[in-house]
Amino acid sequence: MRLILMGPPGAGKGTQARFVAEHFGIPAISTGDIFRANVSQGTPLGVEAKRFMDAGEYVPDEVTNLMVRNRIDEADASPGFLLDGYPRTLAQVTELDGMIGFTGHQLDAVVVLTVDPEELVQRLLQRAQTDGRADDTEDVIRRRQEVYAEQTEPLIGVYRERGILVEVDGMGEVDEVTTRIFDALDVVPQS
Ligand code: ADP
Repeated sequence: MRLILMGPPGAGKGTQARFVAEHFGIPAISTGDIFRANVSQGTPLGVEAKRFMDAGEYVPDEVTNLMVRNRIDEADASPGFLLDGYPRTLAQVTELDGMIGFTGHQLDAVVVLTVDPEELVQRLLQRAQTDGRADDTEDVIRRRQEVYAEQTEPLIGVYRERGILVEVDGMGEVDEVTTRIFDALDVVPQS
């Protein structure tokens, strides 16, 4: 399976990505997690990415694309993968098409989690208290939401036109949402 998990900040992508990846026996690849790991290790990539992340902006496409390309090339991703947080721009969509097409495979489904805007803010403020992520302050949360609406929401239409979009209600308990995602993906033919 080659899957994408999409949704606005706070939709629960990271939480659900782990369950979905385990279910299909594929790695969950989270660009946000990879960036954060690099930031905490102080690598050159982390130093570069931190400036953008702290401001709620996207890391430049060239940086993100190369990082994903290298990760997808690793052996554990050859049977498939679940991408969490990538692609986020139209340029990243094109880049990913190239990466997957090169291997002769195709994208099987794009799951988008839908959550009420008020609920999203509540979840992120809650996470700010429990996880202490540097980008979970009110101003930065607002900026991440704007950037998502401007740059990432249009991707939903792109994948809908391709007929691979799966919309899943992301409201409610974590395990209810997981069940909805599994039910929706069980009818998707695996390539
Ligand atoms: P969120 O929970 O807000 O969706 P993530 O943990 O997925 O955030 O990502 C955190 C930050 O990492 C983003 O705000 C952005 O700066 C950077 N980032 C993650 N994925 C990408 C991407 N595909 N393109 C550009 N920047 C990215």
